[in-house]
Amino acid sequence: MKKIIFALLISFLATPAYASDEVEDINFDYFIVPTEYQIKLVGMYMRIQDHFHKYEVDPKLNIHYGPSFDSPVVQSINENYKHSSSFFGIKNTTLVYFNEKETNWYESRMSSLEGWYNDAWLKNNCVVNTKSTCGFASARAPHPHYYHMIGSDNKSASNWMKWIAHHETVHGFQKELGLMKDNLKMNCWILEGQANALSLASFIENNEIEEIRDGQIKNTLNIIPDLFKMSNSDFVRTFKNIENDRMSCLQKGVGYYIGMMIIEYMYIKYDVQVVHEMLLSIANGNSFDGASRAYFKVSQDDLYSNAFNYIVESLKQIP
Ligand SMILES: [Zn+2]
Repeated sequence: MKKIIFALLISFLATPAYASDEVEDINFDYFIVPTEYQIKLVGMYMRIQDHFHKYEVDPKLNIHYGPSFDSPVVQSINENYKHSSSFFGIKNTTLVYFNEKETNWYESRMSSLEGWYNDAWLKNNCVVNTKSTCGFASARAPHPHYYHMIGSDNKSASNWMKWIAHHETVHGFQKELGLMKDNLKMNCWILEGQANALSLASFIENNEIEEIRDGQIKNTLNIIPDLFKMSNSDFVRTFKNIENDRMSCLQKGVGYYIGMMIIEYMYIKYDVQVVHEMLLSIANGNSFDGASRAYFKVSQDDLYSNAFNYIVESLKQIP
């Protein structure tokens, strides 16, 4: 039922209002009233869509396949890359696909494309076998390069795999916006949180996004099991203790889960462009607190405290 409400709300908010003489007899068997929370969340996705609409491009995808790579899933993943690249205004994208037997080919192809080679993601964050899939976005080249290891037993693209294309494309957008100028200045949770939040807005036509989002944020309680017992100041203190830890961000998921909800809160509360300017000011060397005070007129602590209320509200919505 919850999924139906969400899908209806998306189609309602995405459709321009009809002139009254166009309204014909609409006979709903029942009328579902969306909750305030659902209106807030879907409204945020729509404002993000409006913002990016003006940047839409016809993207060019340069695609490289490993010599024995023949997984049929790439067709659908490529289509999603095309859609997300258009959505985020990325004109030029390079995609490299290889299977579990082609890690050496990947090494030489990445070296020839970019003049450097990274295998840390394969070694540390990926189990390379016939069933697994892993991806990596490289921000060093002039345009985004994405690398995907897709095990040869993967025969159909799951929604998860399609959504990853959107998530990775947000990293491309972050690079083009200037957030990746010096990766060290930009906190990992901001980049991963924004990648999760914005990717759901570009993937919204897929009506599974609610499941994907619920599946992500429910992991928050694995990171902070006492979350529901915390006061706002407990949360601010706890989050500030873990927010700079890159391992917590990537491996425990602080960036993907808590980061996403804090970034969502920012997009709900503030104008999309103002959020981007605030983040850009951090990438250019401002502190989070300084940027928050300058663009949002609240301190970092107050922003986290307000976001905590949204996090609690969000987690209580999960079935
Ligand atoms: Zn990411």
